[in-house]
Amino acid sequence: MFSLNSTPHCLKSSIWRLSVAFRQHKLVSGFADLRRLSTLSSFTTMHATALQHTARGQQATACSRTRVRATIPARICHCQGRQRLVVVATATPTKEDATLKADSAAPAKGSSAAPTAVPVPQPVIEDEGIELAWPAPRPWAEVLLSKVADTVDDLGVIARRTFNDNVPGIEAIDRLFRAGKGGKLQLKKETQKPVVLVLGTGWGAHSLVKVIDVEQFEVVVVSPRNHFLFTPMLPSTAVGTVEFRSLLEPIRTSNPFATYLEASCEKIDPDTKVAYCTAAVAFEDGRRPQFEIEYDMVVVAVGEQPATFGVPGVADYCYFMKEVSDTVELRKKIQEAFELAALPGTSEEDRRRVLHFVVVGGGPTGVEFAGTLNDFVRVDLAKKYPELMPFVTVSLYQSAQSILTQFSGSLQQRAIQNFKASGVQVVLGVQVTGVERDFIKIKPKDSEEVQDVPYGLCVWSTGNAARPLVRDLVAGLPRQGKYSNPARPAAAKLAVDPYLRVVGARDMIALGDCSMMLGNRLPATAQVAGQQGAYVARMVNRGYSMGLGGMDTAPPVRVDPALGEVDTEGLRKLHPVDAAAISQQPKLTEMDLQAVLNNDSTYLRTPAGVSYYRKPFEFLSLGIMAYVGNDKALTQVEAFDTSLNVYGSLAFLLWRSVYITKQVSFRNRVLILFDWMKARVFGRDLSQF
Ligand SMILES: Cc1cc2nc3c(=O)[nH]c(=O)nc-3n(C[C@H](O)[C@H](O)[C@H](O)COP(=O)(O)OP(=O)(O)OC[C@H]3O[C@@H](n4cnc5c(N)ncnc54)[C@H](O)[C@@H]3O)c2cc1C
Repeated sequence: MFSLNSTPHCLKSSIWRLSVAFRQHKLVSGFADLRRLSTLSSFTTMHATALQHTARGQQATACSRTRVRATIPARICHCQGRQRLVVVATATPTKEDATLKADSAAPAKGSSAAPTAVPVPQPVIEDEGIELAWPAPRPWAEVLLSKVADTVDDLGVIARRTFNDNVPGIEAIDRLFRAGKGGKLQLKKETQKPVVLVLGTGWGAHSLVKVIDVEQFEVVVVSPRNHFLFTPMLPSTAVGTVEFRSLLEPIRTSNPFATYLEASCEKIDPDTKVAYCTAAVAFEDGRRPQFEIEYDMVVVAVGEQPATFGVPGVADYCYFMKEVSDTVELRKKIQEAFELAALPGTSEEDRRRVLHFVVVGGGPTGVEFAGTLNDFVRVDLAKKYPELMPFVTVSLYQSAQSILTQFSGSLQQRAIQNFKASGVQVVLGVQVTGVERDFIKIKPKDSEEVQDVPYGLCVWSTGNAARPLVRDLVAGLPRQGKYSNPARPAAAKLAVDPYLRVVGARDMIALGDCSMMLGNRLPATAQVAGQQGAYVARMVNRGYSMGLGGMDTAPPVRVDPALGEVDTEGLRKLHPVDAAAISQQPKLTEMDLQAVLNNDSTYLRTPAGVSYYRKPFEFLSLGIMAYVGNDKALTQVEAFDTSLNVYGSLAFLLWRSVYITKQVSFRNRVLILFDWMKARVFGRDLSQF
């Protein structure tokens, strides 16, 4: 929270600081009309609501949105014979604020000026008794423009890296680590650059690693998977429409200057800022190296794992669709089922059972797999095993009364009709209560009667659950308790503030599926995770320290190197948590730091140079799409705050164009185009090995 006093002696500098703050946030500051504002005792913007005032002649239009994490009350003062809007402190919106906002929405009498948009009040979040309103969302086009500008910035970072030939060798890794206690390797703290530890190589981590500036940071990536995987096309690999290698990008290719370790992080100590990791690969004698990595900032982007909801037998007999290894196994199992059914002596009952392919879950992944599998069976396998076709069934079981519930009602109906027309059996309103080796138990939601359904292959796609690391972190951070339900540890997600900082932890970021943004619950999708990763990389590239995460703590802060040196020792005592992070900044005055730590108004009275990162994460939704088989898809395109529904072959064309464009490398684009052509011309590959 910050304020400017309206007392005459400080007015000039206050206004100057205010206008600096305004410029930082692309606000327009100017002269306000006294008559319209003189009744105003406070002008409140909470957390990131807007303050924008434009003044032309006798008119003051007010408030639009931007990102100001503070309460900014206003008062009018005289300065050099002119009237100025000055900001003073207050904690809550007043009636006058509401009046001003309402007034400002309409042009002043006798003026032809267009009304300025007034932000819609946002939900208020209470955290430890402090109320903070969520930033008002900006219009779609504004967010798009800002993302485009950011992407141009990113290209600069990537270009610098591309022309750098000094890719570190294995000796660089040896230099980075030293033997620690008990034979465990430890990251050497004497590395010159701050260490950014990234956990994961999925959507969030990958986009961060691509954009982060390795000239400024020592980037260490820890993940049991040494590649990025383009998950939306995973179902296609299970039937051979696309080869799985076409969807992968080795993380070492994504950023050759990051140090990658094929390991899992098992524990993070947020107080000492150490991550404990164990290699995902082992030597022949079973030795599995362990590492302790001391970080300056950690990014938790470990995603989630398939949820079984405790249904007996799921873990033992079902297949999942999460990793490439899952689809490789699935593809083998599908082909095995046909070969088994084609063997002489196989009974009709067995044929019917092994050729019953069950998908549980009517979300995008389950639907896409059911549609893709049905294509494979009806188009390719039908040519090779025509005699088996009467025994084949593809079934989709869904507990809700519809499928693809994130799409509009009409698109849901289209998907169901398409499945009926192409021979996929859709069973709605049923729960799978158990899975045995040969049959699944299903129960209609409104009945107690359980039915046994024989099956040959069951794909379980009912959602995700927290990974152990995330569960432990949520349980171990006291301030996370408020946002999680201890009775449902599988549903745990790391609560993050608008800057994606983990609430209650120092220098810890969480993004993607494993996180939950407070006040603005975003879907667990690749789109969100990818944008979040790039967002964090930009924030750190611009030199911001994370500090302590929470809705009532200061946003990430940066200190201008022009500031004078200070004794940060005393400041550490003052506030041991944030001070340590902030004092890493080379030059910082005591006053600055105190103000930043207390998140109070005084810092604006200190010499300029302390700046907050006032750009909370904004999600730019481009819409959703799903392939439903038979060369048809659903797309719900979102642009300019409206949405457009497209279904059928045109939507399928859109689906393919978007996915080819969204590939993370040119190589993958070419490979996928070839795969599609190959499948169309020669059919999908049926060989089994
Ligand atoms: C089949 C399928 C289809 C999908 N289709 C779409 C779609 O069409 N559109 C869409 O928007 N979204 C889609 N999604 C969802 C999307 O893939 C996820 O939302 C996205 O992957 C989340 O990204 P993330 O970075 O949070 O996690 P992930 O991408 O899951 O990455 C997690 C990473 O963390 C690593 N990891 C796990 N544990 C540890 C540990 N202990 N230490 C270190 N690293 C660890 C993993 O190996 C992995 O590299 C789909 C998902 C699936 C499975």
